[in-house]
Amino acid sequence: DTPDQYQPLTPETLGGRLASIDAVVERIGSDPADWVVREVGDGNLNLVFIVEGPEGTVIVKQALPYVRLVGDSWPLPLYRAFFENHALVRQAERDPGSVPEVHYFDETQALIVMEFLAPHKILRRKLIDGEKVEGLGGFLGRFCARTAFRGSELSMKSPDKKKDVGLFAGNIEIPAITEALVFTDPYHDAEMNHHSDGLDPVVSSLRSDARLKAKVQRLMMKFASNTETMVHGDLHSGSIMSTGTQSRIIDPEFVQYGPMGFDIGMLLANFLMAYFSQPAHREAALLDDYQEWLLSVIAETVNTFEEEFDHLWKTERTGMLYPEALFEGQGHQSEEACADLLAEIWVDALGFCGIEMHRRTLSLAHNADFEDIEDKEVKAALEARNLQMGADLIRNAGTLGSVEELLRLARQVN
Ligand code: ADP
Ligand code: MG
Ligand code: MG
Ligand code: MG
Repeated sequence: DTPDQYQPLTPETLGGRLASIDAVVERIGSDPADWVVREVGDGNLNLVFIVEGPEGTVIVKQALPYVRLVGDSWPLPLYRAFFENHALVRQAERDPGSVPEVHYFDETQALIVMEFLAPHKILRRKLIDGEKVEGLGGFLGRFCARTAFRGSELSMKSPDKKKDVGLFAGNIEIPAITEALVFTDPYHDAEMNHHSDGLDPVVSSLRSDARLKAKVQRLMMKFASNTETMVHGDLHSGSIMSTGTQSRIIDPEFVQYGPMGFDIGMLLANFLMAYFSQPAHREAALLDDYQEWLLSVIAETVNTFEEEFDHLWKTERTGMLYPEALFEGQGHQSEEACADLLAEIWVDALGFCGIEMHRRTLSLAHNADFEDIEDKEVKAALEARNLQMGADLIRNAGTLGSVEELLRLARQVN
């Protein structure tokens, strides 16, 4: 049975602990002796179990009171599971079918039982393996547009939105991680940083660029104090699971209210990192084709984001902002206002994108796209391109007017 106090699950205790929960038993079968439990957490923070019974399978995700990647020297509040649960519920409302269904939530145990995604595979792994996913850019662009728009006062009633901002403001320790590891550490000699041999010259050129650091600080100010919409907060290719034709978003424990360009910017960075790391993972005959596919996913994501946002602008402006009545008989001005807003979101997104590219090669949490490269010299050379592109994006975000220009820059740096 469930203890009164939080206790982390183990594969051995899980059966006994969850056998009395209807939401589990209904889906997988009632006798835990028939369940097969595997711990599969490969992330940086939490316990994740696949629980397979005679009638079905569920995922059990439980927060740990510290950062798994580092150990109990870095405590982290369990309450993030509460916010992850709330985020999953809102994302399911705002973009139906985009996230695993939540079957059960236990706040004391910081535990979520959710839909088992199968045969889905973590997208980062698919990109390293050179696998394509049909419809990926469309799915991601729609998810980002729908959650950005429907989580803002373009759509929500102002009191509801303000209440929600208050609720999520309780997720205090989580943004602090992003503020440190993503926005700050790459730009100075922070304790937990590590980077490949050979990158020192590129790194010192970044750190000696005060204007670049000031731009990053400006973006961190937006991240920390702009509450325009509910963001996923950790939307990288390890938070997306896909088959060949279908995708889902997982792991929104970094949820907060933040700027509309944040999620899409992080996402673009992860496709660009896949792009720059490809020469180490693909044989020459397949390299061009796969790299071009990655760029086409970027284009599709951005184009779909803008089309969907524009569509919602025309059909769902039910909130306080840009009310129809204010633009009576001036439909054209309201369309221009939407285009202006999208242009601002784009500039922010490019900046966030560049920062994410930096922190994944310089700060604490690197990614497999580069880490899996065995030849350290090759790895460092590809990471240097990635760092260069990131710096170009932060410096020139305001002048890269379209996704085509972004892709041109990527091909140039590659
Ligand atoms: P963390 O917060 O620790 O990063 P994640 O939510 O990203 O945890 O989950 C860690 C891993 O568990 C994922 O990379 C994936 O392999 C697996 N996983 C998580 N949720 C599901 C799910 N709903 N279905 C199938 N596998 C999942
Ligand atoms: Mg994760
Ligand atoms: Mg490294
Ligand atoms: Mg996580």
